Amino acid sequence: PHYLMWFRRDLRIHDNTALAALCERANADNAQLSAVFFLTPAQWQAHDMSLVQVDHIARTLPLLAQHLQEQLKITLIVQVCPSFSECIDALTTLCKDNAISCIMANHEYEGNEINRDEQLNERLTKDDIEFVRWHDQCILPPQSITTNDDSMYQVFTPFYKKWRQTLDVSDLQLHTAAGVNEKQNDELTLAKNSASSVKEIENLGREIMNDYQKTLQSTEALQHVNMEAQLTQARDAYPAGEATACQRLEEFAAEDINDYDVSRDMPSLQATSQLSAYLTIGAISPRLCYVQASKVQEKLHGNDGDNDDINRWISELAWRDFYRHVLVDKPALIRHQAYKDETDKQINWSYHEESFKAWCVGKTGVPLVDAAMRCLNATGFMHNRLRMVTAMFLTKDLLIDWRLGERYFMQQLIDGDFASNNGGWQWSASTGTDSAPYFRIMNPFSQAKTHDANGAFIKTWLPELKSIPTNVLHSEDKLRKALSKGGQFADLDYPVPMVEHKKARQLAIAEFKK
Ligand code: FAD
Repeated sequence: PHYLMWFRRDLRIHDNTALAALCERANADNAQLSAVFFLTPAQWQAHDMSLVQVDHIARTLPLLAQHLQEQLKITLIVQVCPSFSECIDALTTLCKDNAISCIMANHEYEGNEINRDEQLNERLTKDDIEFVRWHDQCILPPQSITTNDDSMYQVFTPFYKKWRQTLDVSDLQLHTAAGVNEKQNDELTLAKNSASSVKEIENLGREIMNDYQKTLQSTEALQHVNMEAQLTQARDAYPAGEATACQRLEEFAAEDINDYDVSRDMPSLQATSQLSAYLTIGAISPRLCYVQASKVQEKLHGNDGDNDDINRWISELAWRDFYRHVLVDKPALIRHQAYKDETDKQINWSYHEESFKAWCVGKTGVPLVDAAMRCLNATGFMHNRLRMVTAMFLTKDLLIDWRLGERYFMQQLIDGDFASNNGGWQWSASTGTDSAPYFRIMNPFSQAKTHDANGAFIKTWLPELKSIPTNVLHSEDKLRKALSKGGQFADLDYPVPMVEHKKARQLAIAEFKK
């Protein structure tokens, strides 16, 4: 027999649930084993996938192909199939041409992905081909953490408690794929638009990435982003491959994790793990992250040891699980619906184009917001604290529909991920799972004072503000005065804050109260 591993958002060999299961089965059945990945540019565009993420995938594939060949003697086929419906046809053909009788893959939880898998399953069943899917994206699978009456938690804290309790008593196993021993040299029959050697895969990936760049560059709403510069930054900050990701995890677990609880909130320190880009495309296993952090906890603090820093980091991994569980529980989220239905019906969101544009390009006159947005545009990454600050500013101070911001983030972020991004946006907009009431609205000036006390982050991204003392920078009144006509810094090429936070806050609260 001949079996096929279908890679999607799981671009790694270590702890890959489907890959390990398929290798085990292939060994037991003396089967030949191949793997496939589809490049789907039209689908990426429909999902607002950022250029830097596409590039990250394109850079990861040749490394994956090489390691699959070296470690497991599996050939990776990379094929271009613009949309999901074409993947279904391509897979059916690939199976027929190569007498493949079983495909394995890891579950994806977004709507189009689920539909694609269901349609494919129907097609394959008719041809007697098995299509087996495994839960792999979370540390604990969706629907496994529920309340006593078997429903999904509505807020994070009780979910987290149960999640930790479950992990404490379960023996979390990492899956190792065993090398396959049979007949790996059989010639494969491939479609024209596919590649199967490392070099060909590299070239094909680059070609598709370049085309994608051209498509995005012609998009009106993204004209202000220097994509070439963004790519250079992202390639530098995120070298591809699971080996790099695992090394990054090890280094983080040896150093920065020990100070995480405090330094995670200081954007200028870059003290978080920077693993999200790898987690998003599956170049690192979230279970490996958990196991590694637990090991540090045990080593430093003994079996019953507790440590705020390590616990805090583990809780961030739990947030990632939480939002995936939420999505599985409420699939309507993928169709742009609010988690709290009533907010969709009753809030009069603004769609003011100029204000939205000012936010996108980082010209709101609010330094922390602008610095964060310019950092996002330049690097494809934004620190978590700043994602909350910028999201709250857009949805509360400007009362702009969170869906516009959600989309813009997806178009820019290297770690863009539907569940986490949607969850983060709805949390910030008070339409989602946040347990705090809507009147908790972050003041971007006091946030700057607390989390960027010396203004280092702001001044890195807004060098034009270098000469402004921090006591002015962190005070809305003083800054407004200094930047206004006749003020000390009126000559700077930087706008006066576009809204008055206090007033904007009252308006937002009134809207929500209504
Ligand atoms: P660390 O602090 O080292 O955390 C470790 C890992 O935990 C992260 O890599 C990530 O996988 C997970 N994590 C941390 N915080 C969160 C969180 N709040 N929600 C879900 N998972 C979390 N994260 C994404 O991966 N993709 C997104 O598209 C995304 N969009 C966001 C949008 C908004 C408005 C907000 C408020 C948050 C968003 N996040 C998103 C979550 C978070 O900002 C990033 O995961 C984090 O900044 C990544 O940096 P890191 O890897 O250094 O994280």
